[in-house]
Amino acid sequence: MAHIIDGKKIAAEVRADIAERVAAFKAENGFAPGLAVVIVGSDPASCVYVRNKKKACEAAGMNSRVIELSENTTEEELLACVNELAADNTVHGILVQLPLPKHLDENAVIAAIPPEKDVDAFTTENVGRIMLGDFDFLPCTPAGIMTMLRQEKIDIAGKRCVVIGRSNIVGKPMAMLLLHANGTVTVCHSRTKNLAEVTREADILVVAIGKARFVTADMVKPGAVVIDVGMNRDAKGKLCGDVDFDCVEKVAGAITPVPGGVGPMTITTLLENTLTAARRSLEK
Ligand code: NAP
Repeated sequence: MAHIIDGKKIAAEVRADIAERVAAFKAENGFAPGLAVVIVGSDPASCVYVRNKKKACEAAGMNSRVIELSENTTEEELLACVNELAADNTVHGILVQLPLPKHLDENAVIAAIPPEKDVDAFTTENVGRIMLGDFDFLPCTPAGIMTMLRQEKIDIAGKRCVVIGRSNIVGKPMAMLLLHANGTVTVCHSRTKNLAEVTREADILVVAIGKARFVTADMVKPGAVVIDVGMNRDAKGKLCGDVDFDCVEKVAGAITPVPGGVGPMTITTLLENTLTAARRSLEK
């Protein structure tokens, strides 16, 4: 049976450390790091994510502000809101909750966030800097996974790493971070041929595809580390990952559960990035 990687516990330890550093920052500089989260519309999943981000910020001693805009907000209005936050010295990090309603251009909105306040690391400048390995901010989910691997003392150098999924927010940056950590990385996607043959070579398998229980035991090398990013509802409405946990845990060496695995680590990186943004604001 695999070792179950407890993302909740690791996240709590890392967040306690961040809270201590936030307290020291406040004592030294007389102000708290501040995060502004903009949400457009009332998508239920997005509302839950935003609420959790606000709660985590406050628990870490940071200021957090949620700006709720109606579903019918125009792009001009949303850009005006982002520009206002960009000019506000009490706001160090800006996050626009995605996805946006269809009539809004996500790329244009992300481009309006100043790179030094881009705590999601989605702007062109920050994505480019990640590629070069010279960054202030890392995208929250992949960086959370790297923290988790580090805390679990899982060595990446020289390991065969396979990432399933090539999205801009998870798959691609995940592959890049594993590469920076000297993993030998393969990225798979919906056009990959003989997927199971590739995944069976992985010492570390990261799955981010958005399909309930897609990865089965026959796709996993015995003893592999399996990181499940997926957040899906199965036919019964139960929250589950992209990995068939019950079968795969019998084969893997270590595995993250859903819920309680990668999810809590994502917000942890957001806190780290907001503290970094506040520090950087002092250097201006
Ligand atoms: P996405 O943008 O929909 O990307 C999915 C990727 O999976 C695509 O690259 C797609 O390939 C690939 N894919 C789809 N079907 C496949 C198949 N049958 N075989 C191989 N590859 C396949 O999704 P995402 O934003 O990366 O999110 C992935 C999952 O992670 C979702 O469940 C999401 O809810 C979850 N998530 C969780 C967190 C967290 O904090 N826990 C954060 C972010 C996302 P193509 O490129 O060829 O289409």
